[in-house]
Amino acid sequence: MRFIYCPLCGEKLSYRQLGDEVNVPWCDRCNRPFFDMFSSCVIVLVVNGEGKVALLKAADRVRAYRTLVSGYIQPGESAEECARREVQEEIGVVLHELRLIQTVWFPRGEQLMIAFIGYTKDQELRLSCEVEEAAWYEPEEAIHLVHPKGPGNASNLLVETWLKECQQKY
Ligand SMILES: [Zn+2]
Repeated sequence: MRFIYCPLCGEKLSYRQLGDEVNVPWCDRCNRPFFDMFSSCVIVLVVNGEGKVALLKAADRVRAYRTLVSGYIQPGESAEECARREVQEEIGVVLHELRLIQTVWFPRGEQLMIAFIGYTKDQELRLSCEVEEAAWYEPEEAIHLVHPKGPGNASNLLVETWLKECQQKY
């Protein structure tokens, strides 16, 4: 998202060069830049002690594909804190380990997805009202239930990463 007016005072922004960056939106009244903005989100593949993964069905819309835990990072929160909080809120399990796998730009939502694998010893899933259904799946099955591989698709990337790691063990 590119600012045209200052989000603080409403003044129309001008453009100026700041260091190496050209055409930075700038408010003359507030005397500060307003860089193009996007949302940062976490997406977490939750893995249990048996190597099974948690797939969800969101309550808010009809979707053909199962999803992973995800959510927007709040101001003041790290991506890791957000990942643990969202997992606890959405499916009620505690993570004892979190691994950053990759960050992925999701063009349709103008979002930077920060993709983790999170490990839990918990088995029981306690769902929030946002989640209609959630269950543990073998990774071999899960890869067919999430959205097919494509640019910006972090859920497929995470399940595929875990599936490959499981297959390498044998
Ligand atoms: Zn301003």
